[in-house]
Amino acid sequence: MPYFTKLFMAKIKRIGVLTSGGDAPGMNAAIRGVVRTAVYNGLEVMGIRQGYQGMIDASFIPMQSSSVSDIIQRGGTILKTARCEEFRSPEGRLKAYNNLKDAQIDGVVVIGGDGSFTGGRIFNEEYDIPFVGIPGTIDNDIYGTDYTIGYDTALNTVVEAVDKIRDTASAHNRMFFVEVMGAEAGFIALYSGIATGAEAIIIPEIEGADQDLKTMIEAGNTRKKSSNIIIVAEGHKEGGAFAMAEKVKNDFKDYDVRVSVLGHLQRGGSPSAIDRVNASRLGHAAVEALIDDQKSVMVGIMNGEITLVPFRRAVKLHKDVNHDLVDLAKILSV
Ligand code: ATP
Repeated sequence: MPYFTKLFMAKIKRIGVLTSGGDAPGMNAAIRGVVRTAVYNGLEVMGIRQGYQGMIDASFIPMQSSSVSDIIQRGGTILKTARCEEFRSPEGRLKAYNNLKDAQIDGVVVIGGDGSFTGGRIFNEEYDIPFVGIPGTIDNDIYGTDYTIGYDTALNTVVEAVDKIRDTASAHNRMFFVEVMGAEAGFIALYSGIATGAEAIIIPEIEGADQDLKTMIEAGNTRKKSSNIIIVAEGHKEGGAFAMAEKVKNDFKDYDVRVSVLGHLQRGGSPSAIDRVNASRLGHAAVEALIDDQKSVMVGIMNGEITLVPFRRAVKLHKDVNHDLVDLAKILSV
């Protein structure tokens, strides 16, 4: 169908955009992509503040092209984000629906993680206002997309921090356990571990962390290594970095063992070029999807191309780490 005919026939005239769940660097670039694409297509845009809470409170702000000037380089999210218990209840979602109707919002772009997409899927089973999702989480753990907004920046932040920790570890012959984010997924730990030449990487996807650790320390002893860096994904079932460090202290009494938990600094900072470009592409694709009458889908990037994935699949299916990279990390740390 010719482009202008498609636009004329589109049901969508005014869209809402929100950020939900944990914040991630690059969310602002995605908001900008959404707003500018909407303006380009003659649509109106309302910013919805604080995730689903803003729908329930009718916290809407009209946005123009100038509303998103000078934000592509900023971390955080200008719309604020939140976790909203009320949206989990049918009463909460009814309030949200009524507020969207009153504000004449007839399509919504949700930038968030799998919880946000679950909320969107349920809402779209109940109500006729279409939701389209953009994967925004530093964990990179969403099925159906090679990439989530914020992951690249968080990864580079971790690499920079671990390089600094390596300097002090080498100076004192210390062993450092560095805990990184990724409660259920080891993407940040695995990639940062390879990028920093970590001696061991402990991620939830791989069993037997204890044994691997012992083997690594014994091998390191033989080689008289001047420093050891062990990257641990938070929330590992065998314990986080502190628990692992305790075990090593007991088993290898000669080691000077330290722990560094990187924490929330991994969420902040100016987004990397890759995050800015991909967030811009995804913001644009989400608005195009709404114009094309899509609903209950996430836009993703697979093999460099934009894809559409139903919320149901994105949430239900598990995205695994590349096990070749797990093997590579072991080979390269001999
Ligand atoms: P992150 O991956 O950064 O944690 P997320 O989107 O998974 O992001 P959640 O806190 O799990 O973050 O979900 C965000 C919001 O989505 C919740 O606060 C809630 O408002 C909504 N939500 C999550 N699960 C449901 C559900 N089962 N039903 C309705 N709404 C939900």
